[in-house]
Amino acid sequence: MRQKLVAGNWKMFGCRASVEQLLLDLAAQEYPANVGIAVFPNFLHLQQVSQNLLLQKKWNLGAQDCATELELGAFTGEVSAKQLADVNCSMVLVGHSERRILQFESDQVICRKFIAAQSAGLIPILCLGESLAEREAGKAEETVLTQLNAVLQEVGVGAFKHAIIAYEPVWAIGTGLTATPEQAQEIHGIIRGYLKQHDELIGQSVQILYGGSVKAANAAELFAMADIDGGLVGGASLNAEEFSAICRAAGN
Ligand code: PEP
Repeated sequence: MRQKLVAGNWKMFGCRASVEQLLLDLAAQEYPANVGIAVFPNFLHLQQVSQNLLLQKKWNLGAQDCATELELGAFTGEVSAKQLADVNCSMVLVGHSERRILQFESDQVICRKFIAAQSAGLIPILCLGESLAEREAGKAEETVLTQLNAVLQEVGVGAFKHAIIAYEPVWAIGTGLTATPEQAQEIHGIIRGYLKQHDELIGQSVQILYGGSVKAANAAELFAMADIDGGLVGGASLNAEEFSAICRAAGN
């Protein structure tokens, strides 16, 4: 039985004061005990969040990205997965579409980040997803499996014992458009089926999150699908009431 996970991606939002307020608001909400919860603040706020009480409730702390290089060195502007582990991160997003598109990250770069994350003892959340043009051309499955394969071929299926996958159709991120539960389930099923072909047990146990305009109003029907193990939540994770309601939907 896979545990559900709800992960909040705070993106490049917040300043120290608003993060403090968000933490207070989050602490005032109710959360189900049977759901894993993770938050991904901006690099600058990792320590602030790490010192907060929320993490004593066993929430996971994650970063939104890490360097391809693991060892500390002359890489101006980069943050190593080792440094993330040092400030109590246990997870890191790799291959978020905003980085694939806006920072021109290739599958090869994303694969190196995945490896660096695991080498530092972090769980990478590998983000996969097709653009609207790719979906309309009937290439959603091909796109997602190509992105998955770029990592799988390099690291082997065994590495997915300590990794999470997030299916995030690019056309649904920050747009208010959500994949229907059936559309999301179809791709989740394809991803899981593909991993099962490589290793039945790993395919069965890997957590696959859905991301793309998840909110309290649509979370329950998405999370009810067989292969959707929770959500990677952007915009709605900045609102404590919405975020906690999404967590509760995952617990039902
Ligand atoms: C995301 O940033 O991963 C995301 C899914 O954003 P949103 O929920 O705002 O669409």
